[in-house]
Amino acid sequence: MDLPWLSQKAWAVERYGHPVFRVPVDPGWGCPNRDALGRGGCAFCAEDGGRARQLGDAEGPEEQVRRGAAFARERYGARLLQLYLQAYTATYTDTESLRALVEGLLGMERFQSLSLGTRPDCLSAATLALLREWNEAREVWVELGVQTSHDDTLTRIGRGHSWARSEEAILRLDAEGLRPCVHLLCGLPGEGPDEMLETVKRVAALPIHGIKFHNFHVLRDAPLGREWLKAPFEVLGERAYLAWLAEALRWVPAGIPVFRLVTDSPPEQRLAPPQVLKKGRFLHELQGFMDLRGWRQGDRAIGK
Ligand code: SF4
Repeated sequence: MDLPWLSQKAWAVERYGHPVFRVPVDPGWGCPNRDALGRGGCAFCAEDGGRARQLGDAEGPEEQVRRGAAFARERYGARLLQLYLQAYTATYTDTESLRALVEGLLGMERFQSLSLGTRPDCLSAATLALLREWNEAREVWVELGVQTSHDDTLTRIGRGHSWARSEEAILRLDAEGLRPCVHLLCGLPGEGPDEMLETVKRVAALPIHGIKFHNFHVLRDAPLGREWLKAPFEVLGERAYLAWLAEALRWVPAGIPVFRLVTDSPPEQRLAPPQVLKKGRFLHELQGFMDLRGWRQGDRAIGK
């Protein structure tokens, strides 16, 4: 199936000959926006900090790797695996602890690559040096929570860093030979299609290596969920998001792999939007929407 966007799977098959399957691990370190800064976390973030659902009740990183790798092999016949430290902020610890955990886990399997989810303000010089060291043996990706390029929104959601900090982090990671994959959160309160598109254009102009789109869901356990329960506010519906996303993808350079296109939140947590499409249906409709118009990822990108 020739998709009008470059999926991470298609990109990996073209580059390595096989898809790369991720083995998620929750390092359990929390994040500075909840702990050190004492702000109670970003307003959109649920208590679990985005912990992958497939981790289930697996206790401890080693058990998570054992289960995740077995699942990827049995279910998908995976040949290439990526160790993915996700949930909260994977670099929110000292470098000795980070080294001990990651090197222990890398020794459990033949991981083709490593990916760490973090914030733009949680990449110290010592952490970057460690990532560079690992990058000599295998690709290191950094999944960077950027969310939006609008400082007023970042302030409103209590994000605790500015757009300038995100820009600086992307440039630095790329300069160090690492691979930043940016996470955007579309439909945050106060933003419309134009603001959202402006963010896409800004990140597309930077040396990103991958992009993930999430559409904003109001989650019961998140600060915005508590606000919504007191006074419901309007949330971007999924079909409006789909139409916007079709246009947004045109501004993403054609060679940048897209890791995610739609949010997949636990139904028991989601307060809004009320209706969501199953992921497969969403992607099918997005493809139809773009194909009908002859649109493709990157066909409006600057310097394509
Ligand atoms: S989104 Fe990340 S930085 Fe923000 S509260 Fe959740 S885990 Fe912490």
